[in-house]
Amino acid sequence: MQKSTAHIETLCVHAGHAPDAATAAISPPIHLSTTFERDADGGYPKGFSYARAANPNRTQLETCLAALEGGSEALAFSSGVAAAMTVFQALKPGDHVICTQDAYHGVQRLLREVLQPWQLRVSFVDAADADAVRKALTPVTQLIWVETPSNPLLRITDLAAIAEIARRAHALTVCDNTFATPVLQRPFDYGMDFIMHSATKYLGGHSDVLGGAIVARTASAFSERLRLLQSEAGAVPSPFDCWLLLRGAATLHLRVRAQTENAVRIAGFLAEHQAVENVFYPGLESHPGHALAKQQMRGFGAMLSFTLRGGAAAAMRVVANAKLFIRATSLGGVESLIEHRASMEGPDTKTPGNLVRVSVGVEHAGDLIADLDQALAAL
Ligand code: PLP
Repeated sequence: MQKSTAHIETLCVHAGHAPDAATAAISPPIHLSTTFERDADGGYPKGFSYARAANPNRTQLETCLAALEGGSEALAFSSGVAAAMTVFQALKPGDHVICTQDAYHGVQRLLREVLQPWQLRVSFVDAADADAVRKALTPVTQLIWVETPSNPLLRITDLAAIAEIARRAHALTVCDNTFATPVLQRPFDYGMDFIMHSATKYLGGHSDVLGGAIVARTASAFSERLRLLQSEAGAVPSPFDCWLLLRGAATLHLRVRAQTENAVRIAGFLAEHQAVENVFYPGLESHPGHALAKQQMRGFGAMLSFTLRGGAAAAMRVVANAKLFIRATSLGGVESLIEHRASMEGPDTKTPGNLVRVSVGVEHAGDLIADLDQALAAL
């Protein structure tokens, strides 16, 4: 696929979108057909044969995602975890994976509870410490998985340093770019090989569709294997899911920038509040990854966490007191969400009990701050 030189704002609106060739409709028709007519000589005149292998709505979405990330191709999945699973399934038993220790807890659980029993070897290390990653390499390390900013402590990993370590070790790299989105972070510019997304979050943007994606920087034997697994393992999104994700992508740049502006203001408010022990937001100068985030990102994103001086009970109360923020897990939608993260992650969590995570939406920043103010005042 030819890479586009257009700006991200233009790509959000136009990549993968085109008036429908059959009807001139501006909004793409949803193609529910599971199968496609063959030529009399057995060919597939429009390139589609069976919907698990490819579907017009999925092709439009994949074209859009590849363009947004500046990759050679994208593969869409039924969820972010299905996308991650496909990457790990493309490895062999006995291969070794280095995964950042604060990757999304569901990805860690997938590695521990599903893939280690299938003989994948996994080391969890702090990828914000490039030396720790280097030390964890083994002769059979095939893949390094990073997530930056990470979940829920918003730690920042040096993508160029990790890509260099992997290149020397002949290992592949994957960056979970869910929190930053292609609007704020371009992992391929730093040498990452693959980008993964939970499209459920900012790409969809409205908390109404599950989806996942892998984008390849360049075509390779590994990307071909991913394409094979997409079709043969079959964790594919429905045509309507693809339609919703393509629709969401059109406003991605507007939402992410508005949400980021709100998050900067909220982080500033929380950092000054007496009841708050610590704010985890890379936009704050006090954040250990601030300088790196400033260099590696085009904005600090709309996710932040904070801990309460009053411990876990105070964290639970702040969440309970929220009126405008909605008490729910997940992130990236237009509505602001708040959650007590440790109780959501379960008994094996390493997240501090006094931590509250928020996904900042597109509401007015003043209203969001007023809500947090009253929730904290009622402690
Ligand atoms: N990666 C990150 C950073 C996430 O936050 C999530 C979900 O919360 C996932 C991956 C998994 O995505 P999904 O829930 O779409 O399977």
